[in-house]
Amino acid sequence: MGDRYISGEMIGCLRRYWGYTSFRPWQEKTILAVLDDRDSLTVLPTGGGKSLCFQLPAMLKDGLAVVISPLISLMKDQVDTLKDMGIPAEYMNSSQSAEAQDGVVRRIQAGEVKLLYISPERLQTDPTLNWLKTVQKSFFVIDEAHCISHWGHDFRADYRNLKVIKDNFKDIPVHAFTATATKEVERDILNELALESPEINIADVDRANLIYRVMPRANIISQIVEVLNKHPQEAGIIYCLRRDDVDDISAKLNRLGFKNLPYHAGLSDQTRHDNQEEFMRERVDIIVATVAFGMGIDRSNVRFVIHAAMPKSIEHYHQETGRAGRDGLTSYCYMFYGGADFRVWGFFLEQSANKEIMREKLKVMYNFCVQPQCRHKVFVSYFGQKYLPNSCVACDYCLGEVDTVADPLGIARAILSCVEKVSYGDGRGFGAGHIVNVLKGNKDDRVARWRHDHLPVFGAMEKETVFFIRYMIEQLVGQEFLAREGEFLTLSLTDSSRQVLKGDVVPVLAKPLVAKRKKEIRQKQSKFKEKDWVGIDPELFELLRKKRSDLAEKQRVPAYIIFGDRSLKDMAAIKPLTPESFATVFGVGEHKLKQYCEEFVGVIKDYTSSIKK
Ligand code: ADP
Repeated sequence: MGDRYISGEMIGCLRRYWGYTSFRPWQEKTILAVLDDRDSLTVLPTGGGKSLCFQLPAMLKDGLAVVISPLISLMKDQVDTLKDMGIPAEYMNSSQSAEAQDGVVRRIQAGEVKLLYISPERLQTDPTLNWLKTVQKSFFVIDEAHCISHWGHDFRADYRNLKVIKDNFKDIPVHAFTATATKEVERDILNELALESPEINIADVDRANLIYRVMPRANIISQIVEVLNKHPQEAGIIYCLRRDDVDDISAKLNRLGFKNLPYHAGLSDQTRHDNQEEFMRERVDIIVATVAFGMGIDRSNVRFVIHAAMPKSIEHYHQETGRAGRDGLTSYCYMFYGGADFRVWGFFLEQSANKEIMREKLKVMYNFCVQPQCRHKVFVSYFGQKYLPNSCVACDYCLGEVDTVADPLGIARAILSCVEKVSYGDGRGFGAGHIVNVLKGNKDDRVARWRHDHLPVFGAMEKETVFFIRYMIEQLVGQEFLAREGEFLTLSLTDSSRQVLKGDVVPVLAKPLVAKRKKEIRQKQSKFKEKDWVGIDPELFELLRKKRSDLAEKQRVPAYIIFGDRSLKDMAAIKPLTPESFATVFGVGEHKLKQYCEEFVGVIKDYTSSIKK
């Protein structure tokens, strides 16, 4: 039946309501699957544009599309966004009065609504199922479908009984959408929803518009400040490992003049809600948070995500950084990690039910930090896909910001043989501090007591700094050429150490950056960033941003509902002065043209005439 909808009809709808000119990769295929009246499962990464994949078919099909979503707090914003584009949508959840809900049912029964967002518990009540049976439906959508699975990271009890949909509406197609699904989650979704021979679309996990940079942590506040200075007036999230770190970093940054709000589970519900609102409504641009700040952060112009510590798995890192750049514009992810993060997570994981699996994931995460390699490629291979380009040109490694040491084998052998010699024979072990002293040739009390100054490796790296030797050890631990175990975090050899000692395997080791090189890289980075602004008038962009924020305040909606940054940038480049040219701006559909042309064109006219004067 999908054939019935020629792509012209789809593009027409996209232009008319969304004001976009083309589909993103996978959208067309997914939309056709929804139009095809067959069950489906779609896995599309955050920012891939999932909503459009069911909202657009809802407009092309007869009847009501019912969207089950766990994000009650966001339903109003989602519906407001649709209404602002001229799409008749409603929501139904426990936050509404009985009268408001009756009103929604009446509008649906009168055929005035194309999309209904509903919470899973409201859907499962008898009265809801009963009136739903009486209206014409196009299809059901299960948004954030990974919440069905115990294997997912956001399991929701309310999502368990969604089989009621197939039990009650056998002939209506069901479409599941999620951003992250491993094989186990995928299987649970298919089983729990009882999908019938579904079409499965799994998109590429890569987010090409994200630039990843991963660096060892030194003075975290100055490292964060350096990043914030690169992103003035842009929105960002700073993730910390513990609540105390959030409070500390948030307070310090506020004192330094970087206005921000904290977010973690130790704050009251009200404070958390208020702080999230402030961020979503663009009244504050920086949030310092634990991972509690998560699902449903819909602000599309988050330009950077900073990790002040390493997350516990690649899945978490991918999801957390995924909150940047949902609008498709270049966005930046910075991580500052330390060996301590590995140990803190290791300690937390001891209490978790499946600690073996979690420990493996933690190791892979640490390896990702310490091994110089293309970050995009690591993600893509981690999720079982192939990464074809030779260089992503979007990570510290591929952008040439990571320098590798000239003789990695020599360095690795010196360190490994030092570990081997000091612990030789009697099971003694020493931590990194002692190994550094021996290699550096520092004869402290312990070195003297154990007579390690008599070993051939004593002073083998005397020309290097202590920081350098420690950095090399951390990389060897992360790449599993060394193991660090026990209460005293002693180092020992692993199976793969032997291969290095024999010279069969050569580790890749990054050099710490010296000040001169850091300056060079900084200059290169700012040039790289300038590319995002080619042809765009930044002063006009700021004025348009101000107009957007005034309108949002007046309408009591988040600013991104009115226009995304990409639309404002387009306006600041094209500088449209007539409705005809305003209609060509990215994100301007029929409804937005009527609603906002005068306001924004007014700003542009004033600005251009002030320049001429
Ligand atoms: P997801 O739910 O997959 O994270 P969303 O549906 O929230 O993504 O879409 C992310 C952003 O991308 C939104 O601002 C949306 O309007 C925009 N978007 C979606 N599809 C397109 C498209 N074809 N062209 C331009 N922008 C799009």
